[in-house]
Amino acid sequence: MRQSKALIVVWSLFELAIASVEARGLNAPDALKSDSQTVINEKFREEVEGLAKRRVIIRRGTVEWDEIGNANCYTSDIIITIRRGLDETIATAVEGHELGHAFLCAKGILPINADLTAPLGLWEKDQDDLKTVARAVATCMIEPTVNSEARKRGVDLTPQEAEKLRVQARQSAADLREGARLYGGMFDIQWAVAQFCLVREQPSLNTSKLAEIVSYDPLVSATYMSLEEKVKSVECNTVTSCFEIAKRVRAAAGLDGYFYLQNPTTISLE
Ligand SMILES: [Zn+2]
Repeated sequence: MRQSKALIVVWSLFELAIASVEARGLNAPDALKSDSQTVINEKFREEVEGLAKRRVIIRRGTVEWDEIGNANCYTSDIIITIRRGLDETIATAVEGHELGHAFLCAKGILPINADLTAPLGLWEKDQDDLKTVARAVATCMIEPTVNSEARKRGVDLTPQEAEKLRVQARQSAADLREGARLYGGMFDIQWAVAQFCLVREQPSLNTSKLAEIVSYDPLVSATYMSLEEKVKSVECNTVTSCFEIAKRVRAAAGLDGYFYLQNPTTISLE
């Protein structure tokens, strides 16, 4: 995802502040639980390697300012990067989640890539902007599918979900204004869609902070409300229903015909 240098700087300052708070208030990790989760991850990693016929490399490193981890399967090895500095329990859960992404990738399910986008002529602006928006829409189905595969194998995603929400909730009104200034109309769709899908994915979590963030920018807020109105209250609780939401979000955002979404059940493009 393209992000401004200003946002990265803001992010780094936040991270420093939060890291010092975390260092003081950390609970003692549950060793037994963390061991068994480590074993679960290791088995999951071996499964993905067998399926993908490629190595899965897991490392700590730098990720985008709004990420806690990512899986890159566009390289010869699948590279999973976990945000440096996370405590062990969270890092292990993030690893389990990212292995879910690697698993989907090994099955040929990709959130979005150049081949999946419609001809450039349909989109007057930068193709990268379209991909960013398309990826946000695809999140609506990819994330729940990833989580469902990870849970099937025994991964406890609770720490990962809480951390993801915490990272998203750090956005300030200034961050949103800066994003809107840089990305204009693309930004309101991307942000409204991203927050909307996060709420659908994790309805059990307290997402009021996300609603507050959306309200910072009038354009993001209007787009978010239009999504709520047009997508209605379909629950995202199965892979199929989440895919349905992603398609409805694409339509509600006025993006039908601009890019395909990959049906995670049939692998076909719709
Ligand atoms: Zn994910």
